[in-house]
Amino acid sequence: MKVMKFGGTSVGSIESLLNLRDIVNAESRPVVVVVSAMGGFTNQLLAMCEQAQQRDISCLDTLEVARKRHHDAVDGVVIEEMRDQVHATIDRFIDESLKPYYLALATNPRMPVDEIERVCDAIVAHGEILSSAIVTGMFQDGIPHLSLNYMRTTTDAHGRVLDWEETEKLVKSDYASLNDGGVHVAQGFISRDKQSGDVTNLGRGGSDYTAAILATLLDAEALEIWTDVDGFMTADPRTHPDATVIPQMTYEQAQRMCDAGAKVIYPPTIAPVAMKRIPVWVKNTFNPDAPGTVIVD
Ligand code: ADP
Ligand code: ASP
Ligand code: MG
Repeated sequence: MKVMKFGGTSVGSIESLLNLRDIVNAESRPVVVVVSAMGGFTNQLLAMCEQAQQRDISCLDTLEVARKRHHDAVDGVVIEEMRDQVHATIDRFIDESLKPYYLALATNPRMPVDEIERVCDAIVAHGEILSSAIVTGMFQDGIPHLSLNYMRTTTDAHGRVLDWEETEKLVKSDYASLNDGGVHVAQGFISRDKQSGDVTNLGRGGSDYTAAILATLLDAEALEIWTDVDGFMTADPRTHPDATVIPQMTYEQAQRMCDAGAKVIYPPTIAPVAMKRIPVWVKNTFNPDAPGTVIVD
């Protein structure tokens, strides 16, 4: 079984979602698909939090643009028999969850700082919740999972960290029927605090880490990071147009480059898969035939 993670650009347009569908349909079942929010939406959700705190209600207009973007994606990619249900899910989360949260921020000038943080963490989780509803609805054999039900964080001297023990127990139970087959779709990034139950997350870029955690706990044969470049490169191709793809790297080399800022993989991703010697592939959703990069021992 593979864990395949698709980043923001890979779920950001009808074109990329159709590529995702073809890539996943070429895989055997079961398969676990971890998704990020639609490209740019996490930033938008957070910018709207700032606006709402300034009592700038125009954030609700931006929310309507985002609603349309998600509905358009549903019309473009979701199988017909699931379409009404996914449209309704999107509206429900926007009208019954996101809007009340933004209004609460905008109308409570004396909201304590820790409460503001809690509300914004709850808001930002909706990016992955909405994109995953769309991706699940693309597959006849799509099986939805809610990462809030099993990813657990706690706070230690370093700040917010994954609670491995609790997460392992919950992941094993949530994925107990994995071997029956299907495309199991999970949200990257999002989690809950083990003590309070509050919605938390694994940090910006954290969907890679979610996928690595699931790959590790479910004993995946491989972790695939599907993104918008042909592989792990010698440098960021956005700033170094002459950068080239590295066909093979060790976990150690990858960790070093991630720590030095190679944004293609979120740094905490490498350690758990390295410990279990799970190969990591970095592949391009927009050019799936390119060989990509494999990270092994
Ligand atoms: P995703 O949304 O798929 O997680 P990210 O934007 O987080 O995508 O990561 C992919 C981006 O990382 C690429 O578009 C590229 O600009 C950037 N990047 C930075 N360093 C590297 C590198 N060494 N190799 C490949 N991409 C890199
Ligand atoms: N959507 C989250 C972010 O933008 C997580 C991720 O993309 O990995 O940071
Ligand atoms: Mg990323």
